[in-house]
Amino acid sequence: MKSYNMLIGGEWVGAASGETFETENPFTGKSWATIPRSGVDDVDRAAAAARKAFNDPSWSGLSASARGALLRRFADLLAANADRLAEVETQDNGKLIAEMRGQLRYMPQWYYYFGGLADKVEGRVIPIDKPGVFNFTREEPLGIVAAITPWNSPLMLATWKLAPALAAGNTILWKPSEFSSASALEFGRLFEEAGFPPGVVNIVTGFGSEIGSHIVSHPQVDKVAFTGGDRTGQGVYELAAKSIKPVTLELGGKSANIVFEDAVLEDAVKGVVSGIFAASGQTCIAGSRALVHRSIYPAFVEALVAFAKTARIGDPSSENTQVGPITTRPQLTKVLEYIEIAKAEGATLALGGKRASDPACGDGWFVEPTIFTDVAPAMRIAQEEVFGPVLAAIPFDNDEQAIEIANGTIYGLAAGVWTQSISRALTMSQRLRAGTVWVNTYRAVSYMSPFGGFKRSGIGRESGLSAIREYLQEKSVWIDISGTVPNPFVQR
Ligand code: NDP
Repeated sequence: MKSYNMLIGGEWVGAASGETFETENPFTGKSWATIPRSGVDDVDRAAAAARKAFNDPSWSGLSASARGALLRRFADLLAANADRLAEVETQDNGKLIAEMRGQLRYMPQWYYYFGGLADKVEGRVIPIDKPGVFNFTREEPLGIVAAITPWNSPLMLATWKLAPALAAGNTILWKPSEFSSASALEFGRLFEEAGFPPGVVNIVTGFGSEIGSHIVSHPQVDKVAFTGGDRTGQGVYELAAKSIKPVTLELGGKSANIVFEDAVLEDAVKGVVSGIFAASGQTCIAGSRALVHRSIYPAFVEALVAFAKTARIGDPSSENTQVGPITTRPQLTKVLEYIEIAKAEGATLALGGKRASDPACGDGWFVEPTIFTDVAPAMRIAQEEVFGPVLAAIPFDNDEQAIEIANGTIYGLAAGVWTQSISRALTMSQRLRAGTVWVNTYRAVSYMSPFGGFKRSGIGRESGLSAIREYLQEKSVWIDISGTVPNPFVQR
């Protein structure tokens, strides 16, 4: 059993209480490492370390170019360690090694991009209307950013926060999910190795239910960047409001993959499968609703079921596996419950529908790729986020109805459109109320392109040029150049 410590103020430490918890491998169902179980006093220590680092000239006195260089050095180290980190993630959260390797090898780009951006953040000189004053703006870091991240793509989702936040000159208090802390702690070593001053990145492990509120409401924390479920996100938002803290919230989704009658059927089948069965549906952008034009609905469903049946389920560390386990025990229970809810609501089970018993799954927490047909848009299976390999296939009759159904949930994270018509593609991309719309593709992300949710899927954007603004605040500076003292009793 491996034993991890966490990173506070440049020291690798256990929880003050000495308590730990075990992290499990979803494929074997067995514990493989112990992680410190922090309490509020550990959060206090990390917040104090982050504040000290924020005020210390070794960080606050660095030029923006030097900060950028540190980020780029970190990116080099990340590239060199990508495959090793991918293996840790697969062991801890059960996602496919092929997927995690791809993510980890691509991840340095965020640090190169935001490292390059660090010294391109500029203030403005305002051509002010008042005589005798010079007015300009400065872009300043917020201070301490609390990053709270989920278990499904642990390092990627942290990177979307850490890269712009560090480029902007903030310090970090990061709490990874209790289900996927190991890779975060391995990641922490690379910040040290890259030469970030102690306390600039602090990693506090433990249970969200025990320390989450304390982090969000902590007086030293200036901003909360959260990715997770919308209910937890709502709680974070309410708590942050009490101390008037800005937040970035990346929350859940119920994204629609819309297949029109003029789509290339084979491509659309692959797109819908990649939207819901990749990562066993445990992605915020899962295309968990397939909206299919009624004229092609039977043929499409048949082709979809046939293709999904060929998915190889099993050991996520094997290169050939296409569908891995569910990451956590509670999530396994939740996914199986939703399958029962869908059956009870009258949806027709076209594929899967139970815990996988394939010998390749061993004692792991697997759910068969599952497809429900005859789903009505109002059913819970078509409205609520399952976060598992469960697809709701819904027919529609015309474009207007497709938009109405696609937009008819509380979420608005992403959507897919499958058509050969350019005008339809453009109209749909305009009318879909979602932060990302993919046309004839699905699940593409980049460090260059903004990502975030409409409606209950979130607030703020990650990645892309504007993401750095989420971690900056603007200051207006006024300097008298007239040399005269104006009437002190009236506003200048
Ligand atoms: P949760 O909301 O349960 O947890 C997210 C993080 O919040 C974890 O670190 C968790 O810690 C922590 N947390 C738990 N309770 C609190 C609290 N009271 N205060 C502060 N933090 C707390 O989500 P999951 O980990 O289950 O992740 C799945 C969800 O994440 C899905 O709904 C998915 O849609 C969403 N998601 C959104 C993405 C996006 O970019 N929009 C991307 C990926 C996922 P702990 O794990 O210890 O409980």
